[in-house]
Amino acid sequence: MINVLWLQGGACSGNTMSFLNAEEPTVVELITDFGLNILWHPTTGQQIGKQVQDLLHDILEGRTKLDILVYEGSLIQGPNGTGTMNYFADRPMMDWVKELAAVTQFTVAIGDCATWGGIPAVPPNPSESTGLQFHRKDKGGFLGANYKSKGGLPVINIPGCPAHPDWISQVLVAIAVGRVGDVLLDDYHRPKTFFTDFVQSGCTNVVNFAQKVDGGFGTRGGCLYYEVGCRGPMTRASCNNILWNRQSSKTRANHPCLGCTEPGFPHNDLQKGSVFKTMKYLGVFPKEVPTGRNKLAYYMEAGFQKMMPTNKRVKETSK
Ligand code: SF4
Ligand code: SF4
Repeated sequence: MINVLWLQGGACSGNTMSFLNAEEPTVVELITDFGLNILWHPTTGQQIGKQVQDLLHDILEGRTKLDILVYEGSLIQGPNGTGTMNYFADRPMMDWVKELAAVTQFTVAIGDCATWGGIPAVPPNPSESTGLQFHRKDKGGFLGANYKSKGGLPVINIPGCPAHPDWISQVLVAIAVGRVGDVLLDDYHRPKTFFTDFVQSGCTNVVNFAQKVDGGFGTRGGCLYYEVGCRGPMTRASCNNILWNRQSSKTRANHPCLGCTEPGFPHNDLQKGSVFKTMKYLGVFPKEVPTGRNKLAYYMEAGFQKMMPTNKRVKETSK
């Protein structure tokens, strides 16, 4: 039996909603086939009030073992570092998290808010939100750069707004079957299995990207990079290989990738108008070029490709 405790801080429950849609494996299969025992979850848990407090004390005092602490939502430290803006079971949530993180075998942060602070941590950040082990791109966060759980790993980060359900369920399986040591993490503690290739890998517009054929939001055909500011070439995630609902992805549905699995997300702030607008719509595009490309060489190639007859032809046929 693998005991799992799921807590929520500054959260919209989006990652819980996503997780409940997991297909490989499903949440039910996690319980029946992989031995996950959900000690408590804020949406599905049946215990309330003192029962939850008793459970948490049982864990902290060693009467109940905790294998996986799952945390969803930002870690709220406001006001003035007291954490009282997010009270839970009669204490600041941040006090529970500090102590539970010290006794759990593994800690898993789900979604952007838990991993790097996400939208709540956008300046001016009135709730003093941060992520469990990162604050935006900086290592540290709430638990500190050197934190490791009893199982010897740092916080395992599964970012996304929300995280893909199967990224979550497959990491939980790896822990349940004792193979989490095989899960290699990148510099931002993301499992490399899901976060090595760019979103562009598997995108149905990739030929249009190469030939610089522009596409607009919601139109058929054409790459969304040039006109709409898609972040697929700068964002590491398997959205076009492990499809959403086994059906599609943002870019396949002609919606630009917003770069939600990268620690800089959201990639702009309230001062610039909206946390969701792509750089293109904020008038700052194209300052960035695809990751790993030289800016000058990239622009020269783009200009050349746009003059090619194939560009015009593909554009015409995709109308
Ligand atoms: S739509 Fe986005 S992900 Fe797809 S090819 Fe264009 S830039 Fe890359
Ligand atoms: S396509 Fe981009 S914005 Fe959409 S879920 Fe994937 S990484 Fe996030």
